[in-house]
This record gives sequence, C-alpha cells and structure tokens, in this order.
Amino acid sequence: MNIDRLDHIGIAVEDLEASCTLYRDVLGIASAGVEEVADQKVKVAFFAVGDSKIELLEPTSADSPIAQFIEKRGAGIHHMAIGVDDIEAALERAREAGIRLIDEEPRVGAGNARIAFVHPKSTGGVLLELCERT
Ligand code: ZN
Repeated sequence: MNIDRLDHIGIAVEDLEASCTLYRDVLGIASAGVEEVADQKVKVAFFAVGDSKIELLEPTSADSPIAQFIEKRGAGIHHMAIGVDDIEAALERAREAGIRLIDEEPRVGAGNARIAFVHPKSTGGVLLELCERT
C-alpha cells in the first residue's frame, strides 16, 4: 500500500454554515466546495490546507452516522483519512494483517473519491478512512 499523504481530517459539525464561516472568514482558508453525500446522509464542505483538506460533515438526517456520532460524543474530530494510490491493495494488506474493516469494498465518497473505513477497534481508537482520488 502506498500512502502518499494525509488526505483530510473529517470533523462532525452541527451547523455547516456556521463552521464554514469560521474556516473561511475567520481563518481565511479557501473553500473547495460543498456537496451532499446521500449515501452517508451528510452535507460536506472541504477546505484545502496545502495538500491536505479539512472536511466538515453536517448530518442531513437523524439516522446519519454523523448525527449519531454527535449525539454520543458531541461535535469534533470524527475521522482521519490517508490517501492511498490503490485502495484495493490497501484493503487487502489490512485484511492480511487481521485489521477489522468497516467497508470490505471501496465505495464512493465526497469528491467522487473511492473510500473505505477501518474500524477504530483496530487502530487505537481512530476511525481511519482510506481514500483514493482519481
Ligand atoms: Zn472523510
């Protein structure tokens, strides 16, 4: 598996517009756009910081995984995404190492990236996202 960057940090927020104001207007980070990911029931905004991004996630429904996260733990850092050049190879390598996967197969995430989540029980409590951008 070739890990070439920290792709992004995902942050669960209750109010995307208010959070965008902080990152865009107060911190002055350029917005890389907002999109809705129906599959995950979230609205997502990206802010580019060098080669990495900050991903703000607002739930669009009470049964969104992000809504459940906020209810249990409050808003804040939700996951860390590392960029890989071959997500199938990364998943295979993780599987061989006995690492517990949330997604056995890649799926399409925000920005049309191919993503898969690794279970925090196998990563010292960090929800890890593998992210392949085409
Ligand atoms: Zn993410």
